[in-house]
Amino acid sequence: EAKNEGAGKIKVFRQWMLDKLQESRTLEHDMAVALVNKEFVVYYQPIVDSFSREIYSYEALIRWIHPLKGLLSPDSFIPVAEKTGMINEMGKSVLEMACREAACWAVPAKISVNVSPVQLSSKAFAGIVLSILKETGLPADRLELEVTESSLFTESNTPINTLNKLREWGVKISIDDFGTGYSSLSRMSKIAFDKIKIDKSFVSSISTQEDTLNIIKLITGMAKSLNMKAVAEGVETQEQLESLQALGCDLAQGYLFGKPQPYIDRKIRYGEITSIARASGFRQG
Ligand code: C2E
Ligand code: MG
Ligand code: MG
Ligand code: MG
Repeated sequence: EAKNEGAGKIKVFRQWMLDKLQESRTLEHDMAVALVNKEFVVYYQPIVDSFSREIYSYEALIRWIHPLKGLLSPDSFIPVAEKTGMINEMGKSVLEMACREAACWAVPAKISVNVSPVQLSSKAFAGIVLSILKETGLPADRLELEVTESSLFTESNTPINTLNKLREWGVKISIDDFGTGYSSLSRMSKIAFDKIKIDKSFVSSISTQEDTLNIIKLITGMAKSLNMKAVAEGVETQEQLESLQALGCDLAQGYLFGKPQPYIDRKIRYGEITSIARASGFRQG
């Protein structure tokens, strides 16, 4: 009886595994086709000065316009792209699109591009960035790369060497989702980062969890003493913004200022204005 039940479970499990395998295979196949068909596009979300709401940069966020499934968010396909190595090609194409877009803005806002640990562990990556800067004409100091703590959590020295090389050329480096990964402070100290992005899980629990205020204070304090800017992710309410201002957070990003969009506000793109407050008619007070 018990034996039968066990065998049944194994059967169900095997079918589940086969389904998963099939699913990721077709996703892999679909992604390869999508790269050729240019189904991946870049959305842009503003990052603003916490006090003035002047635009500091835009973060480039990949989207997949799937012919059957519609708009797909990165969490549904980036992990597979990383597993198959396709992220290298995909990431290069995001970088190209984002730099080309930013190079034609009338305002000198920076463009922030996410980089996967897989990309960063490739010795070719620095050269790819350099050639894209040349090809698009974007000045190196207007490009920011967002890397995660896990990128540095490796035996290899390639990620650190690559980041240091990029910084020498003038490219800025941010550490993304800070506080959620395994930070190795000793590894982190081998690179001078320009920004720390405080993960949105901290921002969303600002008013409900007592510890959160202290954690954010710790991170902004660390950023200050290391000469970095602190950026809060996922700011959705005025109350959160006010807490973050009080905690000394320089920059903010979130739905309160703007959702990721496939275009840049034309007033900002053409340099008529440089502030989210004025673009949206937001009244400061
Ligand atoms: P991330 O780099 O931490 O990007 C911030 C995420 O928070 C984005 O999700 C953004 O849409 C979302 N967000 C921004 N403001 C708010 C807010 O106020 N509330 C809430 N609830 N969410 C907010 P998205 O676009 O789905 O991207 C998810 C993740 O996928 C990114 O997290 C990044 O790790 C990865 N990703 C996106 N584009 C790329 C890419 O081109 N290359 C690589 N390697 N990864 C990417
Ligand atoms: Mg990011
Ligand atoms: Mg982030
Ligand atoms: Mg995140």
